[in-house]
Amino acid sequence: MKKNYVIAYVTFAIVLALVAYYTMETTEQAPVESEEQLTVNWSYDGETGPQQWMNVSADYAACGRGELQSPINIEVSNTAKEELDEEVKLNYEKALFEIENNGHTIEANSTTPDNSLMINDEEYKLTGIHFHSPSEHQINGQYFDMEAHLFHETKDGKMAIIGLFIESGEENKELAEMWANMPKDGAEAVKVLKNPINLDQLLPEEKNVYQYVGSLTSPPCTEGVNWFVLEQPIEMSNEQINQFSSIFLQNNRPIQQLNNRDVYKIELD
Ligand SMILES: [Zn+2]
Repeated sequence: MKKNYVIAYVTFAIVLALVAYYTMETTEQAPVESEEQLTVNWSYDGETGPQQWMNVSADYAACGRGELQSPINIEVSNTAKEELDEEVKLNYEKALFEIENNGHTIEANSTTPDNSLMINDEEYKLTGIHFHSPSEHQINGQYFDMEAHLFHETKDGKMAIIGLFIESGEENKELAEMWANMPKDGAEAVKVLKNPINLDQLLPEEKNVYQYVGSLTSPPCTEGVNWFVLEQPIEMSNEQINQFSSIFLQNNRPIQQLNNRDVYKIELD
């Protein structure tokens, strides 16, 4: 009889321990789940791809409902004929960068504060450069091998992006060190480049740009971005292009509706 009591007691204790364990586990799990929801992930294909971005998070509503979205196809013959009463000036010199793989692209963050784009005397500071493969914008329905985005922001959060097409050709010396240090995946630490990139040398000689108002091309697809897409592409070797696409085979958002927007052709100073 006594033995049965012991068995019952031990069984009860085990059940109690299991209940306590599972209760503890569920309470521990809860914050982890909500954390995952905050950093919820989007991608360039599959269930969280561009057509679903607006459903991935309420913060990404503009990706589906916006009417000033990027990228666009630039039909050269449809660009606005009138002149824009606006002065756009580049203040570019050498810039130091640290690079990371954020899972969506290679992001080079500028650690040099003095490069900027001036729009009507308002300063948009260069914060970083990232890359897409193939290009995001099209000219007359044609993609380029890659596109770099030089991201600028004012003190109060107004955004301007210079889009820079890249096509296959000579090795790009300005980006050689960045490419040599390119992190293959997001787990790799941020890498600090030793030598500055001469931004003036990086850009093409001719500074004709297509200007329009669009959005970020990745979530949250925020609108009101001043876009300047350089007409003349720069070059990169096949090897350099292949190195990027071996990490990101396809990280470009599909072309968005132009709707009622005008695209202007201007020249940067
Ligand atoms: Zn981009």
